[in-house]
Amino acid sequence: MISPRDIIQKKRDRQTLTSDEIGAFIRGYMASDVADYHVAAWLMAAYLNGMEIDETLALTRAMRDSGKGLDLSSIKTRKVDKHSTGGVGDKTSMIVAPIAASCGITVPMITGRALGHTGGTLDKLESIPGFDPRPAPEKALAILKSAGAVIMGQTDDLAPADRRIYALRDVTATVESIPLITASILSKKLAEDIDGIVLDVKTGSGAFMTTFGQARDLARSIVDVGRRMKTKIVVLITDMEQPLGRAVGNALEIKECIEFLKGTAPSDLETISLALAAHMIRLGGRAKSMQQASALAYEAVSKGAAAETFRQIVQAQSGDPRVLDNTDLLPRTSLVEKFQSKRSGFVTRCDAKLLGLASNALGAGRNRVDDVVHPAVGLYLERKIGEPVKRGDVLCQIHWNDERRLRSAVPLIEQAFEVSARPPKLRPLIHAVLEG
Ligand code: URA
Repeated sequence: MISPRDIIQKKRDRQTLTSDEIGAFIRGYMASDVADYHVAAWLMAAYLNGMEIDETLALTRAMRDSGKGLDLSSIKTRKVDKHSTGGVGDKTSMIVAPIAASCGITVPMITGRALGHTGGTLDKLESIPGFDPRPAPEKALAILKSAGAVIMGQTDDLAPADRRIYALRDVTATVESIPLITASILSKKLAEDIDGIVLDVKTGSGAFMTTFGQARDLARSIVDVGRRMKTKIVVLITDMEQPLGRAVGNALEIKECIEFLKGTAPSDLETISLALAAHMIRLGGRAKSMQQASALAYEAVSKGAAAETFRQIVQAQSGDPRVLDNTDLLPRTSLVEKFQSKRSGFVTRCDAKLLGLASNALGAGRNRVDDVVHPAVGLYLERKIGEPVKRGDVLCQIHWNDERRLRSAVPLIEQAFEVSARPPKLRPLIHAVLEG
């Protein structure tokens, strides 16, 4: 029997915990032998003193094994998921899942809701009338077998230790720790019974990891732990200085995804989505090289196969498939305000975090887990960084439904945009790719 006090003390004194100690601590927590206050104190010690790679590995395993996980053994094709550390306008899940599935990869995509300034895939999908983000396990398996992909919320059985520990981290200021983030992300993904993961670690103002150095350290930690867990992992570090694509907000983003799958896409969204999908296709063994995988991903969109797969996913998850033919069936606000540029020049700032907060202020996200999300509100960016603009041109369209909310969003949008006389130096869309 371990003493939680001893475990906390060891971490406090910068000693290395063994796998058995970490495993027993997490099992004890799930069995209520270890209290929230023990784990909270231990998290702060781990946050301040860091963790060795073996400790991170042991924590990942213990959290993965805290629940039942998925059993996908009846599916023989390779299973690959994609995960993003979260951003603004980041709608790639709804694009890459159908692309990869239509190329023969099985995609059991477990995803989350909006929190803080970042959007959530489940909230976006719920803007499709009828869409069920929580199919029962047998139904989810059937959808995976028929459509090749399911996009759903975390089940109670999937790495439940992470859910409890994440809630503690949230209130103890211990979220921003590379080993804790690594274990949190990987424990959930590895409980999905998958063969490979493509991870999109965002960097920039709208990301968790604002600097490239932090993003690279997280990517390395994830790749190291993934390698030791014998799971194929590719991590892309991608830019989140400005929102991805032009739409920010739930239904607006679904509309942009549908347009993408039908062949019309903003170029940044196209570059990142096709890169993520190509890595999934290669990890899933459907292509020998990235060149071949990229060609398959491109073809899945240009020949309409990915749009057809998305229609099947929507229909199988009880959503209205007619939205694919008529995006006017998605929720819309009757009120749209133009936000105009006060000067001519080039857009030099289109700040992801501020625009995420503005979209939130309009009602698209939530500040508390029980906040109600308004599916139709959000922003459509008519101009992004580097684009020329004349005085009076529209920088963004604000889709709103409540005057008080509009008044709180506008100052954030004002701060988010900057127009200068000279064009800015553009940041790369993909900063680095690491592979385990
Ligand atoms: N995403 C997660 O799933 N966990 C973290 O700790 C941070 C981001």
